[in-house]
Formats: sequence, structure tokens, C-alpha cells
Amino acid sequence: MHPTTEFDPGLIARMSRNGPRYTSYPTADRFTPAFDAAAFAAAARPGKPLSLYVHIPFCESLCYYCACNKIITRDRNKAAKYLGYLMREIDMQADLFARGAVVEQLHLGGGTPTYLDDAQMGDLLDHLRGRFAFASDDAGEFSIEIDPRTVDARRIRALRHQGFNRLSFGVQDFDPDVQRAVNRIQPEALTVDAIAAARDAGFRSISIDLIYGLPLQNVDTMAATLARVVAAAPDRISVYNYAHMPQMFKSQTLIRDADLPDAATKLAMLGLCIERLGAAGYVYIGMDHFAKPDDELARAQRDGTLHRNFQGYSTHADIDMVACGVSAISAVNGSYAQNEKSLASYYARIDRGELPVARGLALTGDDLLRREIIQRLMCDFALDLETLSARWQIDAAVRFAPELARLAELEWDGLLALTPGGVQVSAKGRLLIRNICMVFDGYLGRPAPAEPLRRMQYSRTV
Ligand code: SF4
Repeated sequence: MHPTTEFDPGLIARMSRNGPRYTSYPTADRFTPAFDAAAFAAAARPGKPLSLYVHIPFCESLCYYCACNKIITRDRNKAAKYLGYLMREIDMQADLFARGAVVEQLHLGGGTPTYLDDAQMGDLLDHLRGRFAFASDDAGEFSIEIDPRTVDARRIRALRHQGFNRLSFGVQDFDPDVQRAVNRIQPEALTVDAIAAARDAGFRSISIDLIYGLPLQNVDTMAATLARVVAAAPDRISVYNYAHMPQMFKSQTLIRDADLPDAATKLAMLGLCIERLGAAGYVYIGMDHFAKPDDELARAQRDGTLHRNFQGYSTHADIDMVACGVSAISAVNGSYAQNEKSLASYYARIDRGELPVARGLALTGDDLLRREIIQRLMCDFALDLETLSARWQIDAAVRFAPELARLAELEWDGLLALTPGGVQVSAKGRLLIRNICMVFDGYLGRPAPAEPLRRMQYSRTV
């Protein structure tokens, strides 16, 4: 077990509740159509460093557990058409943001980004480079999500050549029965070979995604999967909690309730992940993420320079994130903007020459302040009230007196210590960091404009 995290099953069982994952604050269920393309364009600040996100929504086959915004199709023409529209959106975004700006981060997510073939990916990267200036390979963080079933060693080398220097592989579980139960047959050798190819190709950080709580998983299958993952030695490992919500995600109805592990088994699997990954030398970064101590995420956490955005943890400061593609969410200059969610409406907006922003939010001063508090808690497991007071010209202890009083209850439960200078999250409180952040969420309990979305996006805190 890694000393920075302590697994206390009794405490977790008692404290776990539904809550946001805080990839953004305020959370996406607060976005409204009142924040439109014009508001987004007005928020643009050319000349600032940029993070670009590009969404490729297509997948070849359906993983039953999936809660992502994706389109299942084998019709490759759809990708070609999408790419054409995506490039037109990139042109519009570049008109707003590219002048004098350097792209420090690029992330391709999905769906399955490698649904695009080699030539299409090359065209997309050339197009992006034609419109934006990119940081050097040494300084920039250029990442892509990879479904190992869609690549071979040659393709992985091509991705490195196209400029990506970090990648994450979707694995979920190595057990063949579990893979069958979720309709994601992915032989272990495929993943192991892809990791080896990525190392040979010179990728700087290789990450693996796992899920616990899937059908037919138990402590034994999880132990076997973890042993294989540790042997493959990725730089980062994410372990996500499967939230079974078939009423929200239709594909999840294909999972048999009877096959799902019960709450006690899920908790035991989480405990096992923490124990085995800690024993293998991985550091718990927070919110489902583990990294080798020399990985840049772990280093950034030690230096107090870790950040969190829509893609999870990041080493880059809070830079503007411009997101392109259907359903993608930008975070720019104190605002959020989400693109149209259906392909038809995304295409229609671009055909009209409009930025495809469907909804968003301009953050208030209070939102920005609370966002910073939640960010610091998630990244540092601590909150320094003096720094906060100085940065925001407030007396944070007075301004947040009600919240600090509520934290005193969590201190009683052992999640944290309140000190004269602020808040220090305990080793066992780290796994329940969302409970602590929820105390500072000014929206919880207020009805959301997009109530079904709220229910979709909230999950058990552990
Ligand atoms: S889990 Fe990934 S590959 Fe599977 S359907 Fe969802 S987005 Fe596609």
C-alpha cells in the first residue's frame, strides 16, 4: 500500500455518495443555451498559450459499459465527412485563437481517435499545424487515446511520427470472460504488444485505463488483471469505477444485473488496486489515477503544479482549452462552451458558417474562486487559506466559515485536518476527495437547468 493513500473500507462504505467528478466547476449540468457562439467568441483571448482538444466520435463496435458520446459505425465514409467539417471548425477556432498563440497541449479523444486511418490522421495533424503554432516535442504534451484493437506497431510508429508523444490505451480488464460480458474482446497480447511498440517508438508517457465493477469481475480476476498490468509497467494507470445506469445509457441494458459484482466486492477490488499498485511503486495522484514516481504527473504533484481539466490531471497550468468536434467542451477565459451534440446539428451549424457552440456558461467571481479551491484540493490534497486570501483579496477563513464548519464534521470522520493555515487531507481522506470538494460546491442542492444530465454525470464518489 502506498503510504500517501489509506484504504478504509468502513469509512468509504459509510461516506460514498453521488457527486460530480469535477473535471469542471461548475459542472456541465449548469451550462445553458444563453451562453452561445457569440459569447464564446467574445471570451477568446488571442496570444495566450493553448490546449487543443479534438473529439473523434466513431467506434467500430459497442462496449456495453460505455457512457461516452460516441457513434458506432463501420461506414468509413462517415469519418471522411466528419473530418471535412472538423477542419472547417478548426479554421474558425484558429481565426479566434491562433494569432500569437502556442499550442502547449493537444489531446485527441473519443470515441476512438484511431478510427481515423493513418492518412486521415496525418491530414488532421497537418491541418492543425497549418493553423496553429505548436510547442516543440520536448516542451509540449501531445496525447491520444488508443483502442489497442485498432492499431499495430506500424500505426503506433506513425502516430509518434505525426507528433504524438503520450498515449493512453483502453484496457478495462484482461479477463476473457469479463471482456465477453462487456463485448470488448481484446486479447492480452494485443495490448502488451501495443505498449512495447509505443516504448520502441519513443512515446514519453504510456497510460492504461482499467475499470472495476464490470460484470463477472471479482477479487481474483482483478488480482490477475493487476498482475498483468504491473508486468506491462505503464507510466500511468487509471482505475475507474463502473457506474451501472442502464436507465441513462441504453447500451448498459445489455449487461445482466446478475453478473455485476456487489458493493462489498467492488470495494474489495478497489482496495486491491490500491494495495497492488502501491506495492508496485505507483503513486496515488488522486481521483482514480496512479503514476510512477518519476512520471511528470507525480513530479507535478510534488511541486504543487498539478492541474485538472476535462481530460483529467495535467501538468500544464490553467491555460485556455479550445475543443473541436461534436459535443466537445472548451474552457476559455472564465467560461465553458459545449459544441452541438448530434452530428446533424454540428454539421448544420458549420454549414451556416457558425461556430457550433450549443450551450455554455460564463463563470462568476464566486465560481472562479470555488473552482480554484476545488482544483487545489483535488491536485494538492491541501488548501492554503493564506495563499487564497492573498490571491483573491479576501479573508478566506471568514468568507468560507460555513464550509470550514462543515469540514470540521469531516475532520471528525478522519478525512482531513483543519490547521490554522487551512486544510490538510488525510491519507484515508484522499480516496474521498470528492466528498471534501462537494462542501465548496455552491450549486449542489440547487435544481440544474439540465437535470437528466446532472443525473448522468454524477457517480458514487468512490
Ligand atoms: S468504451 Fe471507448 S471504444 Fe468502447 S464504445 Fe465507448 S468510446 Fe467506443
